[in-house]
Formats: sequence, structure tokens, C-alpha cells
Amino acid sequence: MTNCIEIEGLNFSYNGDTVLEDITFSVKSGEYLGIIGPNGSGKTTLIKIILRILRADSGKIRLFGEDINDFSDLYRIGYVPQKVSQSEFYFPATVYEVIKSGLCAKKGLFKRLVEKDRLSMEKAMEIAEVTEFRNTLISRLSGGQRQRVFIARALAVEPGILMLDEPATGIDIASQDKFYSFLNELNTRLGITIVFVTHDLGVIADEANSILCINKKVCCYGPPDQYIKEEFLEEVYGRKLSIHKHKIRHEH
Ligand code: ADP
Repeated sequence: MTNCIEIEGLNFSYNGDTVLEDITFSVKSGEYLGIIGPNGSGKTTLIKIILRILRADSGKIRLFGEDINDFSDLYRIGYVPQKVSQSEFYFPATVYEVIKSGLCAKKGLFKRLVEKDRLSMEKAMEIAEVTEFRNTLISRLSGGQRQRVFIARALAVEPGILMLDEPATGIDIASQDKFYSFLNELNTRLGITIVFVTHDLGVIADEANSILCINKKVCCYGPPDQYIKEEFLEEVYGRKLSIHKHKIRHEH
């Protein structure tokens, strides 16, 4: 299997404060990687570097085999941003327009969409089960529905990787379960590589096939059953956590 993300010795600091230090890991095509770590441990910063929103101070990054500085097909990495599921999210556009904006990013704003693009959009809406909302304003949808619209937006460009940052924030538990099985299906049935950032350790234990735990540095990197253990988590998170039937809850 080929690697779609390869990172070696990455360092990053905000105004001299080191946030990521000597980060090394890779993501294979078809893998489901969970990135975990306490708040402020550098997860979002890492995602922003991969998306080229931020630039690493040093280290090697290759995307689909190409050096990040030469990589221009950014649309091959579908990104579902934080907060779209939260109730304060407001965006004056219909579901169809939101999904179309993903394709415009790929093609350039002023290029017309062709038949193939429309078919990709229809397929993405079908997969994410949002076709019935196509003419609905995105602000009228529930958090879980909105989350699926942004996944459809990412899928419409037929990305190799889908990256999600804390995707379940603001979604109720029942919708979360549905959302996670949907992601699982995208991964197992459609072979889409998933990189999933979360503080929800229970989900990672159940869903991902490998985890990367960071706290400035890489604390662990490997299959979840090797690391999702109470002793290890207590060490990284600095407090006691208990695991119930694969779901992990904080103890107060
Ligand atoms: P996480 O996603 O794991 O919660 P972040 O990557 O958001 O962590 O943040 C890592 C660290 O960098 C935190 O200490 C945070 O306060 C700091 N940080 C995040 N964004 C900025 C910024 N724009 N300027 C300065 N410091 C920042």
C-alpha cells in the first residue's frame, strides 16, 4: 500500500513557542487514522500544516508522494472543518450551493461545471444522504445533517483523503453513532482514507485502525488496542479515565 501522507521530523512554533516537535508518522492509502491528544496538544495545528494553511519550521512532508511545497492538488484532501455542526454556525447558502463551492475550489471559481461535476455532486449527496435537502438553507439543518453536507462537499471532488477535525462536536449521541457508522462505511466500502481528530477516545478505540497520540511530541503511534489502556491514557492526559465497553469517559 502506498502512503498518502508522510511526515518526518516536523517542527512548528507560534512566535517562538514550540507546539509540535519532531513529529514523524505516515498514513497509508485506505487507512483510518485517529489523532488524539489533550486540548492544546497541537492536533489542529498539525492538520493546518497538512492543509498548507500553516507552514512547518522544519521537517519533511510528502502528500501523495510529492513534496508539500510542490503539491498543488489540494482538493485531493477533503477537509471537514470544526464547528460546522454547532448551533451558532451560520452560512447564507443552500445545501447544493455549499457542495458546489467545494468543486469550484477544485476547478477555479470561474470555470463552469460540466456534466461529470454534476454527477459527482449527485453521487456525493446520495452517499451522504442529503439529496432531499438540496434546496434547504444550510442554517436550517441540524448539526448532524450539516456535518453530512460538509462531507458531501468534500466527497464531490473525489478526494483521496478525508480529514475531519472534532467532527462530532454539537451532535447528539444517536446522530453521532450514525455519523460514525457512515464514516466507517466510507472507509471500508469506498476505500476512502480517513484522518480523524478527536478528544473522544471511545470512538477511536472502536473505529480507527491506527492512532497517533500527540502532546507536542508523538506519545504513541500504532494500533488502538495497544495504546487505549487506562495507565497509558492517565499518563498522557494527566488524569484518571475509565473505559466502559470500549467507550471511555472522564471521571470527575
Ligand atoms: P489542539 O487542536 O490539540 O487543541 P492546537 O493545535 O489548537 O491544539 O493548539 C496547540 C497550541 O498552540 C495551544 O497551546 C494553542 O494555545 C496554541 N495556538 C493555537 N493557535 C495559535 C495561534 N494562532 N497563535 C498562537 N498560539 C496558538
